[in-house]
Parts: sequence; structure tokens; C-alpha cells
Amino acid sequence: MKKHTYKFSNSSVDYYLAWGISHLKEIVDQRNTIIVTDENVFNAHTKRFKGWNVIVLKPGEEYKIQDTANTVIEQLIAMEADRKTILVGVGGGVITDMTGYVASVYMRGIKFGFLPTTLLSMVDASIGGKNGIDLGVYKNIVGIIRQPAFILHDLIFLNTLPQSEWENGFAEIIKHACIKDAAMFRELESNSLKKYQARKKSVCELIQRNAILKTKLVQQDEFEKGDRKLLNFGHTLGHALENQYELSHGQAISIGMTYASHISQQLNGFKDTGRVVDLLEKYGLPTYATFDKQKVFDVLKMDKKREKAEMNYVLLEKIGKGVVKSIPLKELESIINEL
Ligand code: ADP
Ligand code: ZN
Repeated sequence: MKKHTYKFSNSSVDYYLAWGISHLKEIVDQRNTIIVTDENVFNAHTKRFKGWNVIVLKPGEEYKIQDTANTVIEQLIAMEADRKTILVGVGGGVITDMTGYVASVYMRGIKFGFLPTTLLSMVDASIGGKNGIDLGVYKNIVGIIRQPAFILHDLIFLNTLPQSEWENGFAEIIKHACIKDAAMFRELESNSLKKYQARKKSVCELIQRNAILKTKLVQQDEFEKGDRKLLNFGHTLGHALENQYELSHGQAISIGMTYASHISQQLNGFKDTGRVVDLLEKYGLPTYATFDKQKVFDVLKMDKKREKAEMNYVLLEKIGKGVVKSIPLKELESIINEL
């Protein structure tokens, strides 16, 4: 097994992909390490936490808030955590976000690492250094870009992952294929969720391929001035839908990718909308949805990607090639209304 180190603008991150949690004590000193996890992960994998200091949080996005951060900080004080303490987030995106955020502000910043336990967090949320919490309806409105010291994977955690969380992860994997990797898109077309779940080796390869794909995009553009924006494919409409309807993140961006493919067809001559839609459906994701176009557009136009009267929208030129296009809001409104 090899460790890989990826350099970012002012830090480097060690990747221990497919190593396993048993190797954590070779990476950090157990005595000054505190693990942050949630009840679902802790209860399903209690024995793997033996010997570690652990803070267990309630599961769910609704707890990704400042109140929870304060609770964690109070526990850190009670545990006499100091500047040498290392926090390790073991969980999905909510836990890695919370861990990175608390570690970045506790005593003005301590070291932290991640052991992502959902498919989505392995291929997406744990990578790139965005750590944030929500306030009211505003997702990730408070936070910081700061890279973890390391990322460690242990695929054994996926054994207890609910089916809906697998689908969530595949939404981001399909996104990666659409914007950057036509060969992976074809691989996904010839496979299925069942096949991946049955073949450990192929999931393992797929996870590493996606983790590295995202890492490289972030490395080139850590502060999102250019190429990193491609990772927002499906997310502009997706976020607007997620805020207003009962959808998981994966479901919302799947619908977002469907409509972004149609917009690509209109504005960019993209020819493969059908293939994108078929692939999303093959992995159990929703595509065409009826939604209140005007209401969704009203939320969408407040997106962080808006610049005055134009919206930066990620479109496809072809499978494997995403591009960012600035679309005037007026034009976008009429396109969305006619979809
Ligand atoms: P993400 O943003 O990565 O989807 P979340 O932190 O929202 O992650 O986690 C999704 C749900 O899955 C949460 O309820 C969490 O407690 C649960 N979960 C995370 N990892 C596992 C796992 N390995 N096995 C079972 N449930 C898990
Ligand atoms: Zn996403």
C-alpha cells in the first residue's frame, strides 16, 4: 500500500486510500487524537473505535449548525484538548464538514484528518478543504477552506451503508464522468449499482479514480476561479430544488444534471442528453421532475455563482467535457420556463 501526497496552495494532504482504520494509529498518536463521529456510524461499527477518544454526535444535516459546533468545542475543553490535539472526522459529509470547521477555529486552528464513511464523502465531500455549517436555510454559509492533514479510506464502512446513500454517491460519480472522464462514463454505462456492490475491487478502483479526479481539479484551482467550478454541474438548479422539495442531495443534482444537459443541448449543441438521462436512471436516480419553475428560479438566481445579471452555469460540450458559460438571467429564466 502506498501513501500519496497531494500539494495544495499552502498545504499538502496525505492520502491513504484503501488502507483501513486499523492503520490510523500509524498515522496519528492515539493519545492526542479525538475522533468525531455520529451515532449511526458509531453504533454500526462500535468495535472499530476501541481505544480511541470519541465524540459522538446526533446524525443528520439538521445538526450541521453552530450549536453542535459549540457542543463539540465544550467537549474538547472538557477533554483538555490543546494545540497538539488532532481531530479525526469519521463519518459522512456532515461529520467531515463539522470536524474541519471546529478544528479550524478551536484555539485558532488545530490539525485534522478525515475517514469518510459514505460513498459520497469518499469521492466528494471529504476532498477539497471546504468545511462549513448551515444557518437557517443557508447551507454552508459559514465556513473555511482548509485542507485536512490526511484522508484515510476503509471500505468496510460501506457494508452498512443504506441503498439510498449509495445512489447519492453515484450521482456525484456520474457528475465527474460527465464533466471530465468519458471513459469512466462508458464504464458506468456497462456496469450497474448491483455489479459494483458485488465486486469490492471495482468499487475500490472507482472510488480512487473519483477521489483523484476531484483532487486534481481542486489542486489546479483551490479557490474556485476556474476549473473547480465544473464540479458545480447539476448543482445550480439542484441546490434550488433541494431547498424547496424533500430530496436528497444526489436526487436533487440528478434532476439538475438532467436539465443542465437540456440547456447544453440548446446552447452548446450537446448531443448526448439521452445517454446522461439513461445513466442517471440506471443508478436509481430521478431525472425529469415537475416543479414550480418560477419558485425554483427565484431561489436559483440568488445562487453564489451569480455575477450581477449573469449566472455562471456549468454545461456540457460533450460527454467528458464540461464548460462554464455565463448566461444572462433573463435568458436562463425563459429557458427554464420552457423546459
Ligand atoms: P453525506 O453528506 O456523505 O451523504 P451524511 O453525513 O449526511 O453524509 O450521512 C448520510 C447518512 O448516512 C447519515 O445518516 C449518517 O449517519 C449515515 N452513515 C454514514 N456513514 C455510514 C455508514 N458507513 N453506515 C451506515 N450509515 C452511515
Ligand atoms: Zn454535490
